[in-house]
Amino acid sequence: MKSEASNIQERLSGVRDSIPEHVTLIAVSKTKPKEAIEAAASIGQVEFGENRVSELAEKAAELSHLNLKWHHIGHLQTNKVKHVIPHTDLIHAVDSERLLLEINKRSASTGKTSDVLLQIHIAKETNKFGWSFSEFDAFLQEQSWQNLQHVRIRGLMGMATFTDDRQQIRNEFQSLKKAFDGASSVHSHWDILSMGMSGDWEIAVDEGSTMVRIGSSIFGSR
Ligand SMILES: *Cc1c(COP(=O)(O)O)cnc(C)c1O
Repeated sequence: MKSEASNIQERLSGVRDSIPEHVTLIAVSKTKPKEAIEAAASIGQVEFGENRVSELAEKAAELSHLNLKWHHIGHLQTNKVKHVIPHTDLIHAVDSERLLLEINKRSASTGKTSDVLLQIHIAKETNKFGWSFSEFDAFLQEQSWQNLQHVRIRGLMGMATFTDDRQQIRNEFQSLKKAFDGASSVHSHWDILSMGMSGDWEIAVDEGSTMVRIGSSIFGSR
C-alpha cells in the first residue's frame, strides 16, 4: 500500500501539470496534519492556504524552517486580524471596509504592509461572504482607501455557487473577471485574481484566474 505522503505528492504533481504556468497554485491544507504539508513541501510546493487563524498560526510556527508562504483564504473576523498578520503573505477574503481598516491599523503597529484581496460576492447562495458589485463600485469611487499606508490591495477573490450548472459557474467567474479588469486597468498593481477550487478551477482558469485554491484534489476529502 502506498503511503499517504506519496498519494499527496502524486495528486499534487497531477494538479500542477494541468495548471498553466502563469497561474499560482495555493495548496489548501486546512484540517490536514502538518505531515501532509511536509509531503507537499518536499516536492517544492511553497504556497499553502488555511481558513482558521489559530490553525494557520500553529502550522506556520511549527513549519517555519520550511520557509513556506501562508494564505488566509476564508472569512476573517476583525478580532482575529492581529493574530493572522504576522504569519500571512496574502489575505484573500477581505469582505468589508471595516476589516480592511483593521488590517491597515494592525499592520501599521507591527511595521508591516499587508497584501490583501477583496472578496466579491458572485454566488447565488446568500451564505457566502463578500462585497456586492455595487458596494465594490462605490468603494472604488470613494478613493479614501488609497491613503491606507499599510495595506496593499492586490486584486479580487471570489467563490462560485456550489452547483452542477457549469454555465452558471462560468458566468459568475466572468462577472468577477470583468470587475477585476475594470479595476486593474486603473490600479496597475492589482495583479491577482483568486478564483477556482477543486471542483471548478478549470473553468476559473479558462475565465482568467491567476490564482487557484485547491484542497481536496491534493490532500483528499475533508
Ligand atoms: C476550503 C477552501 C478551498 C478549497 O476547497 P477544495 O474544494 O477542497 O479545493 C478554496 N477556497 C476557500 C475559500 C476555501 O475555504
